[in-house]
Amino acid sequence: MSGGNNRNNTIVRNNITSYEKCVEFTHNLWWSWHPEIKYIFQSISPERFRQLNYNPIALLREYTPDEFEVRVKELALKASIDVAYRRYKKYAFERTDWARKNAGVLGSRPVAYFSLEFGLHESLPIYSGGLGVLAGDHVKSASGLGVPLVAVGLFYQTGYFKQEINAEGAQTEIYQKTDLANLPYEDCLDKDGNLLIVSVQTATETIYAKVGLVRVGRVNLYLLNTDLEQNSEEDRALTDRLYGGDNRKRIRQELVCGVGGLRALHALGIRPGVFHLNEGHNSFVTLEAIREEMEYTGVSFGTAAQNVAQKTVFTTHTPVEAGHDYFSRELVEQHVKPLYEALGMTLDQFMEYGRNPSFASDKFCMTVLGLKLSRYANGVSALHGVVSRRMWKPLWPNKTEEETPIGHITNGVHIPTWMAWEMKVLFERSLPDWKEESIDPSIWGEVYDLDSGELWETHAELKMHLVDFARKRLVSRLQRLNGSPEAIEHAKHVLDPNALTIGFARRFATYKRACLVVEDEERFDEIVNNPERPVQFIFAGKAHPKDEPGKEFIKRITALQKDPRFANRVVFLEDYDMNVARHLVQGVDVWLNNPQRPLEASGTSGQKAVLNGALNFSVLDGWWSEAYDGSNGFAISEGVSHISPAIANERDNESLLNVLENVIVPMFYERNEDGLPARWIEYMKNSFATNAWRFSAHRMVADYVKHTYLPAAIGVTAKLP
Ligand SMILES: *Cc1c(COP(=O)(O)O)cnc(C)c1O
Repeated sequence: MSGGNNRNNTIVRNNITSYEKCVEFTHNLWWSWHPEIKYIFQSISPERFRQLNYNPIALLREYTPDEFEVRVKELALKASIDVAYRRYKKYAFERTDWARKNAGVLGSRPVAYFSLEFGLHESLPIYSGGLGVLAGDHVKSASGLGVPLVAVGLFYQTGYFKQEINAEGAQTEIYQKTDLANLPYEDCLDKDGNLLIVSVQTATETIYAKVGLVRVGRVNLYLLNTDLEQNSEEDRALTDRLYGGDNRKRIRQELVCGVGGLRALHALGIRPGVFHLNEGHNSFVTLEAIREEMEYTGVSFGTAAQNVAQKTVFTTHTPVEAGHDYFSRELVEQHVKPLYEALGMTLDQFMEYGRNPSFASDKFCMTVLGLKLSRYANGVSALHGVVSRRMWKPLWPNKTEEETPIGHITNGVHIPTWMAWEMKVLFERSLPDWKEESIDPSIWGEVYDLDSGELWETHAELKMHLVDFARKRLVSRLQRLNGSPEAIEHAKHVLDPNALTIGFARRFATYKRACLVVEDEERFDEIVNNPERPVQFIFAGKAHPKDEPGKEFIKRITALQKDPRFANRVVFLEDYDMNVARHLVQGVDVWLNNPQRPLEASGTSGQKAVLNGALNFSVLDGWWSEAYDGSNGFAISEGVSHISPAIANERDNESLLNVLENVIVPMFYERNEDGLPARWIEYMKNSFATNAWRFSAHRMVADYVKHTYLPAAIGVTAKLP
């Protein structure tokens, strides 16, 4: 019933053309974590592929099938395409041993994973940062392990904004309509072959949404889209962009995703055995699930709520207050009335399900709803587990902080997406048992067998890619701004591929303190401009459209590019997205992270850096507080929090510059008789050995299966039709 074409055909047909094979495997985002596929398209037209943001479907569309065959012949690409096609078919339709052994009970009743953002590839800009990329990596690893899982989200027509920085350093937000024809996206159809449309009732009207399907390996991602004629102008625009609206728009989006999303799954014949709510945004799923259970089985609200909670997993992602949705009583009444009335509740009774006892206000908190109606709740690192228990303890007045039922599963990243091809090739060539999709952690212990010289050369090559990429980006910006010929010439040669290179890229939320390293400009100047041991920084990041202080940080960093002292030492790259992230984490020597502890729930970009041999240099917050062991990277301060941000800033700035100057710089520039930084390389190997598996998304998803999905599924008692 889903997707109206024959792409699901399991038979490998050999008599189809290279063009048809490419069309088939590019209509699954599977291609995005297979660099050998990108290589095929890169070969077809390097320049065009880059201009099209590495989107193979867009490139394919520029050729007729016949022209494409000619090009394939000229470049002798047929064999590569055949191999890729066979691999795809094998991957897409094979059950994995891991799933057979570990996730059998989920078979006919998959996990339904709900998230308002998914970061899968830069060509599908329906993510803003860490939360979305995490959801994307979760889905990809569920696919890799073969976990029966479907994902549900919203399709934003213009996605998240593209960032430009003007000549004054101000951020401009550009919203471009995503061209569906360039995406592996198809409309879902109902059983009569018409466009599948689901609806959600508010107190006074009905919102309609169509449903699109994006295949991500073995996982289907369903995206709801309200751009339909039967909707009011307001509701047509509900899914126009990610973030940037008011609370009324937000609650309507969450209603469509949660309630509409579950209805869409049912219309497609999918009966989830487990709900996984990625953040409080989707807590409305539980209400619709309870309503259905009451309707179909006739049980009371209490029983239905217990049954739904039993199969619901809730993940909270941030201790930052602004990261939790609070809705006014009026908005709740206007939007949730039909649902809570169906559950037999009054507005007052329902408001209790969202009341945060820590606040006097009677706003409705989506995180509270999620925590109350789920049996499995977790934070995203060990430290964040502790912080979350403290934060939400008041919801369980009879329990101590330790007894508060919120555990933790530390985030991880999808290795095939984030590890550079060059690095994978080195690992595969040198280590007999190593495979990127292996689920055996012990293979990472083999990294000590890597030849240090080869590891260093591979890293140097990746660093050169990054320098090239940065120069091209800076030149395009200057051309757009009509920069002077001197400025453009400067940008063409900026950055020294031999200098110690430090990356800092993340959302420019103020608690992430992008400017911390330059607080003391004089000392910063001394360190970066040491003639024998220079240090350079590459920054990137978007500020939330409404975050003025975040935008000021961007101005401050970009101003350094114009300061003669720093013009060769600091660059800011526009439009941080998964593409920029990939280049950065794959090319830098050091990945810097200095959030205000303990506000970074986990952080994942540093985990991506691990996979490429970059060393983490971070405040002991989030994942790094459980990863750092003294010989696999560097720490800022001693892992204590301070209630005063000013004091924490001062202390962390001093520690940062001390460690940089006295530990990192000397270690990086210390060379042995072979010209290699032996101690540094030892650290790189330690980092691979201790962190790569532990902070991988395969490990994370395996943990979710073991500790939440299976117990949640086995406890299911009530039967839905
Ligand atoms: C990985 C990633 C993030 C999250 O990184 P943090 O370390 O959590 O800040 C944000 N944005 C993009 C584009 C990413 O790839």
